[in-house]
Amino acid sequence: MSEVAENTRKILNQLPENVTLVAVSKLKPATLLKEVYDSGHKIFGENYVQEMVEKAEILPKDIEWNFIGHLQSNKVKYIAPIVSLIHSVDSFKLLKEINKQALKNQRIIPCLLQIHIAQEDTKTGMDEEELSEILKSNELKDLKNIDLRGLMGMSTFTDDMSVVRAEFKSLKNIFEKYKDEFQKAGFEHFTEISMGMSGDWKIAIEEGSTMVRIGSSIFGSRG
Ligand SMILES: *Cc1c(COP(=O)(O)O)cnc(C)c1O
Repeated sequence: MSEVAENTRKILNQLPENVTLVAVSKLKPATLLKEVYDSGHKIFGENYVQEMVEKAEILPKDIEWNFIGHLQSNKVKYIAPIVSLIHSVDSFKLLKEINKQALKNQRIIPCLLQIHIAQEDTKTGMDEEELSEILKSNELKDLKNIDLRGLMGMSTFTDDMSVVRAEFKSLKNIFEKYKDEFQKAGFEHFTEISMGMSGDWKIAIEEGSTMVRIGSSIFGSRG
């Protein structure tokens, strides 16, 4: 088995059954993704629109492409035909554009709302107030081509795991607070919490993550 496939298998073996692995393949060549794919794993995460589109063209069609990077509204149209899940919806405006492009493609696009949990201002995401405004908005029920599946968050880049853990706890709390309301609003599958990367995924799972996004522990550092 290839090294990247071996790394993927080792992580999968440690994940609880209810946790999904998104293999984050940004800046890595398609040949490496193919090695992971051939070992049986089909869920990949990409950060850049053009890169995802190019890889999707040459790789097998049953790959589940997860978009995890910052997404500009004017680029949604390029990924709308191929994306399986967008983790990084950070504004209502973006959500409406995703709905529009999903409609054009006659499909429903699953989305997570990205919440700002880190101390740094560099990491994007909405605050709780924006989340609650989306929920209360009259326009939400008109967005029939998106399916809200839950929340996503990124912790502060720090060695202090008590900070990271507290941030994951805060995301879990926000999720628990709003889950029922989103489900009542018609999003029955509002069940996911996407949190945890190579350095902190074990803590994320302890704090309730259902999706971990792991790049360097599978594909090696990005230089
Ligand atoms: C790059 C990236 C990851 C993966 O990071 P690693 O530390 O390499 O596992 C996860 N989530 C997001 C949003 C990323 O941009």
